[in-house]
Amino acid sequence: MNLAPYVGRFAPSPTGPLHAGSLVAAVASWLDARAAGGRWLVRMEDIDRPRCEPGAADTILRQMEAYGLVWDGEVWVQSQRDDAYAAALDALKARGAVYPCACTRSQLAAAPRNHEGEIVYPGTCRNGLPAGAVARSWRVRVPDVSTHFHDRIHGDLQQNLAHEVGDFIVKRADGLFAYQLAVVVDDADQGITHVVRGADLLWNTPRQIYLQTLLGLPTPAYAHVPLVTNAAGQKLSKQTLAPALPESGRGAVLAQALAVLGYPPPRELEGAKPAELLAWARVHWHITNVPPRPAVAKPAQAPDNLPLAPSP
Ligand code: GLU
Repeated sequence: MNLAPYVGRFAPSPTGPLHAGSLVAAVASWLDARAAGGRWLVRMEDIDRPRCEPGAADTILRQMEAYGLVWDGEVWVQSQRDDAYAAALDALKARGAVYPCACTRSQLAAAPRNHEGEIVYPGTCRNGLPAGAVARSWRVRVPDVSTHFHDRIHGDLQQNLAHEVGDFIVKRADGLFAYQLAVVVDDADQGITHVVRGADLLWNTPRQIYLQTLLGLPTPAYAHVPLVTNAAGQKLSKQTLAPALPESGRGAVLAQALAVLGYPPPRELEGAKPAELLAWARVHWHITNVPPRPAVAKPAQAPDNLPLAPSP
């Protein structure tokens, strides 16, 4: 049991404005922290600089304010944290836990893939670079054992990193630190006790737990909330052209996000403002009531202009 005072976080990537799917993750993480009387931090995950959009971080913070999602303390920004990530990589090197890799994306194109469509690294450079090859990235060696973990919504799960992921990248060929390393270092440095985020990251958790073990960092409690998909079953994202959260009718949009989380507001709250809806949900919140299944977004031209359909 985790007896430390609750510290949660929302960690958006500033690749574009928040949409109906990212709102669900933000609201769940805010409610879980506030219902526990905890702190709630915001971290801008601009680690993957080529994917970030200028101005998106400010837009996201303005959207959060407009939806009543008040955070605590300073907003951390990953692009200012390279020294911390470099120190963690050095610690991994000192343990012999990582090795340089020369493989290019095209060389790995034929490698097997896991159930999420990610390449399972075949271990080409694990025992040394092939003759004449130049190191491009750094990978962490994973063990051939099951990592067991508990998700507060999905229950007890396990993954064998060697079979499902392979040795994974902690520093990329373009010189940027990988998300897996940055998130683990930041969650520890910010004292995060509870991670509540979208279910697309569920199967990243064992990689992060393994890095925590190697670096001697605590493992927070994890909960992965339902994704919102479009009618084709794709996660709402910039790539799938998800519309930004609307500037008007925010109460109705927030009510839909709460419905996805298993908390449809009562009729009396129809027309309520975001702050009122959040205050109501906070009193009733219990994360085990959140359904594990995804919700489907309504087409943009839906007559009432709400971004979410009630979950089936
Ligand atoms: N930055 C990630 C995203 O926007 C979230 C990472 C996390 O919550 O661990 O998808």
